[in-house]
Amino acid sequence: MTDVTQSVTTQPAGTNWAGNLAYSADAVASPRTVAEVQELVRAAASAPSRVRALGTRHCFNDLADTDGLLVSLAGLDPVADGHLQLQTGEDGVTTVRASAGTRYGDLAAALLPLGLAVHNLASLPHISVAGAIATATHGSGDTNRGLGGAVVGLELVTGTGELLELRRGQDGPVPFDAAVVHLGALGIITHVTLAVEPAFDVRQDVFQDLPWESLAQHLDEITGAAYSVSVFTRWNEGGPDQVWLKSRMDALGEGPLGEGGALAYQDDFFGARRATTALHPLPGISAVSCTDQLGVGGPSHVRLPHFKMEFTPSNGAELQSEYLVPREHAVAAIEALRGLRERIVPLLQITEIRTMASDGLWLSPAGQYDAVGLHFTWLPLQAEVEALLPVIEEALAPFDARPHWGKLFTTDAARLAELYPRLGDFAQLAETLDPAGVFRNDYLDRVLRST
Ligand SMILES: Cc1cc2nc3c(=O)[nH]c(=O)nc-3n(C[C@H](O)[C@H](O)[C@H](O)COP(=O)(O)OP(=O)(O)OC[C@H]3O[C@@H](n4cnc5c(N)ncnc54)[C@H](O)[C@@H]3O)c2cc1C
Repeated sequence: MTDVTQSVTTQPAGTNWAGNLAYSADAVASPRTVAEVQELVRAAASAPSRVRALGTRHCFNDLADTDGLLVSLAGLDPVADGHLQLQTGEDGVTTVRASAGTRYGDLAAALLPLGLAVHNLASLPHISVAGAIATATHGSGDTNRGLGGAVVGLELVTGTGELLELRRGQDGPVPFDAAVVHLGALGIITHVTLAVEPAFDVRQDVFQDLPWESLAQHLDEITGAAYSVSVFTRWNEGGPDQVWLKSRMDALGEGPLGEGGALAYQDDFFGARRATTALHPLPGISAVSCTDQLGVGGPSHVRLPHFKMEFTPSNGAELQSEYLVPREHAVAAIEALRGLRERIVPLLQITEIRTMASDGLWLSPAGQYDAVGLHFTWLPLQAEVEALLPVIEEALAPFDARPHWGKLFTTDAARLAELYPRLGDFAQLAETLDPAGVFRNDYLDRVLRST
């Protein structure tokens, strides 16, 4: 057997995107074939040592960390080499199989010439497919499930080096809905198959200064006014600063509410006024990095994220947290956070409120119900932020707030087990697929501890 740890290219592990974590790994290996991934995992299992996949480094916590070897899938079947495999099933649904390390923005750009699109995107398009679904990454939209909601197939290398193919609707010993939001605990995912849609255009309209009363009284109309809606707030007394409406062009004209809504509201959107210049979510910052606004239509993948693919931030002076609450608790949860504004504002850059449809995935914060996400982009003051998070978590506890797995949170294992009825089953599944614990790390030891 060749010593794959010698033949695969490696580089220093470095830090995560935010720069708040230096990975403890020895190095990042970049295998070019699935067989090399299997060899790396087998080598770790027999050492014994640890190994873990690394995506595009966008987690704000130590979820991706390991004290062994990190493995990047970026060099495995890159999209640019024409490795997209399309298939249309008997149900008429078209699927695409892509390498796990593919960035969503690259995938979407490659799909467009084929007349296809992914259903939704996160706020930025630079995030890898397997890393995004690992943590239940989502965009916004009342009818849009998180990005994992489109996954119909997974190919992964388990902790014993075995190659496993999972397919939605064909459950074997590994339930498919358990494996999509995977926390990197079940294996190294090598390929992901996603359901895609006919390409569609989106226009983006921004409104400013929404009164709090409007949000409380008309939340459903506001978040239902376009395909994807984001409300940005700095928790000012008057109300949220901006509302971004991303409307499907093929649904325009169905207004006054529903997806055609952006056109129905000329200058007054529930008391907010239409912006006449392009805006960054943070006041005073140039909108040059933001996706085009002012109602100009364009392909969905250059409107649904907030930020453009060509502005590749190597790191960011920010931290993030997010809590998802069942939709019926959203107004009360927002009120509870307003009560904490004196504590939140000194550490905050911006809060974003988004919606997502229930996706049925075991570890998705929107797994069992339609949810509203309450997101915080913090100043890079980790100690202060971590001191405030328990206060926020306590205020949101009556609303069953589930933290975003990839962002900063302090919710402990016992509480997570209450919030996720299948967390114990997931922990058992991880042990079955990874008996030697090669994918385990401090994060998994913490969150799967009491199960
Ligand atoms: C600026 C910024 C904006 C963001 N916007 C959003 C947003 O709009 N919505 C949202 O929900 N989240 C958002 N996030 C959070 C982000 O989407 C998640 O943290 C996501 O998990 C990051 O993906 P990644 O590829 O960078 O993963 P990494 O941080 O590299 O890894 C995340 C996890 O995935 C695992 N993993 C990665 N690849 C594989 C693989 N091939 N096989 C097995 N496991 C793997 C890693 O081991 C780790 O456990 C944002 C983050 C940043 C920095």
